[in-house]
Amino acid sequence: MLNELLAESSFVTDELRMFRETARRFMQTEVAPNLLRWDEQGHVDRALWNKAGELGLLCASIPAEYGGGGGDFAYEKVLIEEQAYVGCSSWGLSLHAGIVAHYILHYGNDDQKQRWLPKLCSGEYVGAIAMTEPGTGSDLQAVRATAIADGDDYIINGQKVFITNGQQAGLIVVVAKTDPTGNGKGVSLIVVETEGLAGFRRGRNLEKAGMHGQDTSELFFENVRVPKTSLLGAAEGMGFMQLMAQLPQERLIVAIGAVASIELALDLTTAYVKERKAFGKPVMDFQNTRFTLAEARTEAALGRVFVERCSELLIAGKLDSATAAMAKWWLTDKQFEITDDCLQLHGGYGYMDEYPISRLWRDSRVQRIYGGTNEIMKELIGRTL
Ligand SMILES: Cc1cc2nc3c(=O)[nH]c(=O)nc-3n(C[C@H](O)[C@H](O)[C@H](O)COP(=O)(O)OP(=O)(O)OC[C@H]3O[C@@H](n4cnc5c(N)ncnc54)[C@H](O)[C@@H]3O)c2cc1C
Repeated sequence: MLNELLAESSFVTDELRMFRETARRFMQTEVAPNLLRWDEQGHVDRALWNKAGELGLLCASIPAEYGGGGGDFAYEKVLIEEQAYVGCSSWGLSLHAGIVAHYILHYGNDDQKQRWLPKLCSGEYVGAIAMTEPGTGSDLQAVRATAIADGDDYIINGQKVFITNGQQAGLIVVVAKTDPTGNGKGVSLIVVETEGLAGFRRGRNLEKAGMHGQDTSELFFENVRVPKTSLLGAAEGMGFMQLMAQLPQERLIVAIGAVASIELALDLTTAYVKERKAFGKPVMDFQNTRFTLAEARTEAALGRVFVERCSELLIAGKLDSATAAMAKWWLTDKQFEITDDCLQLHGGYGYMDEYPISRLWRDSRVQRIYGGTNEIMKELIGRTL
């Protein structure tokens, strides 16, 4: 659970503490009991979004005038943590609220914000962002999807893959080239509303090594016509810069989830090794166990302090891309390493799905890949040296 002392950051208020209580109750009652069922069906229930919207848990950091909670990023952070503390990787909430809604908030004009944000805040729309394609992920300048101007419309063609919330999304921010001859300068962000949209098709909800309850899909666009008012930003060709500006928040979101998952894994494992006996004594009594957990607790504390500080910087508008990259790579690598050690301390039971550490271990692997791979994070840091 949350290390209260280390998490007593400058942005914590009584209101935020109360919000945490509400978020915790919601995760414990509406999320935790459904995890296995969602794993089987491959997605969360659609109604979850609306329930969360009714309670003000969707888009907590979007201004109230657009139907949001009117808070700052600290509110998204609390939701990410409380979701992680019930071991849930299925719900693409932080992507919907902390990423997709923020693209519209930052780059939408007032008409666009009035049109789309209230629907994201209520849960009427589920949000997704479609950057990755079968041929390119890390190299976003190489996307091949196109959005070509035709009168008052754009015509979108292309294929996207690995898209979180893809099956349920009612609104998708699509990364496409309005100028296919340009590299980064040709990239634009186009908002697509999916209902009844001719030429738009959802492909498979992909089967994965972990995160079985998360909807991760293929999307197809074949001569999809959307009005030019769907472009985010004042002009075409700004998409790459817009992506670069928002990615630190996305990476911090991943890092916050990582440290919270580490904290949960350590709580579960500490309880287990105190109960489980081998050679006539609790597994906790072996020095190897104590040292493994002592080292991991120390790293979890370092990670906690780092994400708290990064969150303060983000809220102050000062989190730079290299620092966010440090948080993302280090914490997700640590998450995988520590969760693996925790599984080991469970012995054979750790590999059994009835023990939550098994799920935490499976789900931790992808954290090093999405949101920009950890190799790309090191490239970003390296460039600033
Ligand atoms: C569960 C899941 C959910 C996802 N959700 C979304 C989503 O909602 N929206 C979305 O758009 N995408 C999403 N993704 C895609 C994800 O962001 C990409 O998979 C990721 O960015 C890597 O791209 P890639 O898979 O094409 O790998 P590649 O770019 O092909 O990379 C392959 C390998 O090469 C390495 N590599 C590449 N370039 C360099 C370099 N310059 N230096 C060193 N090494 C390099 C990479 O680190 C990696 O190890 C998701 C992926 C998964 C698995």
